[in-house]
This record gives sequence, structure tokens and C-alpha cells, in this order.
Amino acid sequence: MAGLNIRSVLVTGSNRGIGLELVKQLVGKSNPPRWVFATCRNPEGTRGQELRELVSKHANLVMVKLDAVNPVSIQEAAKTVEAQLEDSGLNLLINNAGIFSNVTLETVDAEEMLGAYKTNVVGPMLVGQAFLPLLKKAAQTSAQKGLSCSKAAIVNISSVLGSVALVPETFFKPVISYRCSKAVPLTLGTSSLHHRAAISACSHPRGAAHSVLFPGARQLLLWRKEHSHGLLSQAVRPQAALNMLTRSQALSYMKDGILCAALHPGWVQTDMGTREADLTVEESIRGILTVLSALSEKHSGSFLNWAGKTLPW
Ligand code: NDP
Repeated sequence: MAGLNIRSVLVTGSNRGIGLELVKQLVGKSNPPRWVFATCRNPEGTRGQELRELVSKHANLVMVKLDAVNPVSIQEAAKTVEAQLEDSGLNLLINNAGIFSNVTLETVDAEEMLGAYKTNVVGPMLVGQAFLPLLKKAAQTSAQKGLSCSKAAIVNISSVLGSVALVPETFFKPVISYRCSKAVPLTLGTSSLHHRAAISACSHPRGAAHSVLFPGARQLLLWRKEHSHGLLSQAVRPQAALNMLTRSQALSYMKDGILCAALHPGWVQTDMGTREADLTVEESIRGILTVLSALSEKHSGSFLNWAGKTLPW
């Protein structure tokens, strides 16, 4: 873990669960960052108490108010962090805040779907946009070659439940709004069922209605038309929701020296994961920090788990 030499890191949703353990282990490192920004939506509230106690023991830990569904709050948080960092940039942004509801296809409604999308996808996108200038600054002022979390990176905490390839194995937990907000991939250049479904949706006489069922299908066909000179023989994978966001960030920000990856923390004993989960939060975060220290250029745009294993989209 000593390999993770970051000067500054920001973790969203860090008053409990995975976020809280991330900031605990970061400040407890043998070479801790100069600044750890622990954001939560209600720093004064009862849910912020454990984080407040931790902050009182560590001069390098700063509590910042940030509600991932409130653009004004995100902008305010970015200003606070910028003022604290003075002339330096932010090395690592971890989009961890997320929500989960135990709904099935029978019980889910529009409000639930949109709520999950807002927190789990729009939130990380807005946070990424707001902190981009600070991440760019970190990359520009770094002497390091290539990409790494020690230089400049966005890590989105995703979930294996968002892997379309693994739906048969994971569907014992339907959690429709959650799994759809984390990922809804479409695969080009392979024989994926979603690919075929998307193509048939667009060529169907009632194409518009089918595009609602298979969002992205029309864009996928347009993309295909534009890139049909040999590229389709490669497995090119436009993604949707959080995993799509990660791939888009990776491609867009690579030129700025910023690494972007999606991480599945394992099934973890938190309020969300419940006590029945496989991993203690300490085990998961030890693994995640080891993975972060090993990430390089070749991992940008990847989906990995807490043990460093690449997951299928
Ligand atoms: P918890 O429910 O224990 O904690 C969620 C955290 O997110 C809390 O700090 C919560 O704050 C915060 N949060 C929720 N909504 C917002 C918001 N709008 N703005 C800011 N913060 C918000 O979940 P975990 O710690 O288990 O999960 C953390 C991440 O890991 C999530 O993205 C989750 O999807 C992912 N994950 C978790 C797994 C698990 O098994 N636990 C498995 C796979 C992925 P507040 O206290 O204010 O509600």
C-alpha cells in the first residue's frame, strides 16, 4: 500500500460504510496523504458523528459538505477543496456515494428508477466535472510519466450487479433500479444478446418504442455507421450508466493525464451490504487500496473488483 503516494484524495459519501473505512485507512497509512477530503451530505448530523470524531484526531482529514444530487452543493465543495489545496491539484477523486433499493421489476416505479440514476450516475458525473480543473492541475504539475492514482485519477465505485454479462449469476438479487444505474452495456463487434436486441430495436417498424426499451440503440447504430471502416472487427463497447460514464471519462480525460476506472468493492458488510455480506469493510478497503496503488495506463477505462480481477461489463 506504500505504493500509493498521493498528496490529496477526496472520497464522497464518507460518513459511513465503505467511504468511512476508505478515509480511515487512508489517514492510517504509513505514508498518509497531505490532504484527505471526506465528504458527506450532513456534516453536523448524527450520521456524521463517527467521521467528526475521526477528523478531530487527524489534522490532514477535512470534512466537506457535499450532496451528490445537488449541483450547488458540489460546486461549493469544489471551491472549499480548491481553497485548502492552495496552488496544488487533487490527485484522486473517489466517487463512492450511492443508494440501493430492494425493488424488483414488479415493484419498481419511475420515481425509484430516476432517483437511483440521479445519485448513482448523475452525481458522479457532476462531481467529476466540478473537480476536473483540480485533477488536471495535479496531472500537469506531476513529474510522473503515464497514468496512475498517485498522479491524477477518478475512481467510480460501481457494482458487479451492474455487469450485464453476469446477470444470470447475480439476478438472485434483482434490485432493478440499482443494477440499471450502475451499468447497462451494449456491445459492438460481438454476438452479445444486447447488441442483437439493440439492432433489432432500431430496424423494427416500431423502432422509437423499442428504443425506449433498449436506450442507446439508435446512437449505437449511428456510431456503427460512422465507424464502419474496419473498426467493428474489434470488440468496442459503448456502455451506459455508471460504467458507461467511466469509459467516457477514461477516453475524454486520458489526454489530460487522468486515469479513470470503475471498481466493485465486493459484497461488503455495510448498511447497504448487510451483515450477511462476504467481506468485512476492512478487508474490502485493504484490497481496494492495493488495487489503487497498482493501477496504471493499461487499466484506464477498466472495471475491476477489490482483489484486482477484471470484471466483464
Ligand atoms: P452505505 O449505504 O453504507 O453508505 C452510502 C453512503 O453514500 C453514505 O455515506 C451516504 O450518506 C452516501 N450517500 C447516499 N446518497 C448520497 C448523496 N446524494 N450525496 C452524498 N452522499 C450520499 O453504502 P456502502 O458503503 O455499502 O456503499 C458505498 C458504495 O459502494 C456505493 O456506491 C455502493 O453502490 C457500492 N457498493 C457497495 C456494495 C456493498 O456490498 N456494500 C457492493 C457493491 C457496490 P448518508 O449517510 O447521508 O445517507
